[in-house]
Amino acid sequence: METTSNYRQLLSNLEYLKLKQMVLHLDEVVDFSITHEVSFTDCLIRLTNHEIDVREKNMIQSMVKVAGFPFLKEMNSFDFKFQPGINQQQMMDFMSLRFIENQENIVFLGPSGVGKTHLATSIGIAAAKKRNSTYFIKCHQLIEDLRKARNEGRLESRLKHYTKYKLLIIDEIGYLPIDVEDAKLFFQLIDRRYEKKSTILTTNVNFKAWDEVFLDTKIANAILDRILHHATIVSIVGPSYRLKNHFPSDKE
Ligand code: ADP
Ligand code: MG
Repeated sequence: METTSNYRQLLSNLEYLKLKQMVLHLDEVVDFSITHEVSFTDCLIRLTNHEIDVREKNMIQSMVKVAGFPFLKEMNSFDFKFQPGINQQQMMDFMSLRFIENQENIVFLGPSGVGKTHLATSIGIAAAKKRNSTYFIKCHQLIEDLRKARNEGRLESRLKHYTKYKLLIIDEIGYLPIDVEDAKLFFQLIDRRYEKKSTILTTNVNFKAWDEVFLDTKIANAILDRILHHATIVSIVGPSYRLKNHFPSDKE
């Protein structure tokens, strides 16, 4: 027969092993096992599932946290009616993360406020939740970081760092011009990820004008070549969501 001291011993064992959820749910599982005459194996499964569920949730939370998203907006908060030019089925396909399995890229192209960062973030959150190492960074921050690393003689390790992410989101290419030396740094990263890892890029500049962003036609072409070789381009032509309340329309 189970004694009080046995029960106490089990509790203290679980506490010692830091199995917090098993401690919390022990009574409930013991009660359940008695009422439903559950086997020892099934009991342990029930009890360990409580522990695993919480660890899984924590893991997912930390994957999302370290990804550095600007906000935590997901696809379900995107109003497709406001931006009817966007193919919802295509977004659902991105959310399935098939593009990551195939090492493909996505480029969101369009003017300010049309939802590029929102969509890129939504896909990134989905990727992080599925335990894909994911990182979100603005283009000029990325370049600044690479420049600093080069100046301090640790470019190689920084490039390796950014190459290891299963999904890298580079936001806002084209908002600021990038000089030739910086463009070379950016090229090295794109080249290393090429056909190995997926990258989502957002830009407000048409590809034809990328040599004005990178201030060097050759490097601009080399970067574009590698990005676009296996990429889906989502061109968004529509109104800015940021301005929607300033110019109310019949869409609302
Ligand atoms: P962009 O990156 O294209 O400049 P954002 O994705 O940052 O635009 O969008 C600007 C703001 O408007 C964000 O807060 C975003 O969540 C919101 N937003 C944009 N488009 C939509 C939409 N169709 N439905 C809901 N929110 C939107
Ligand atoms: Mg943006």
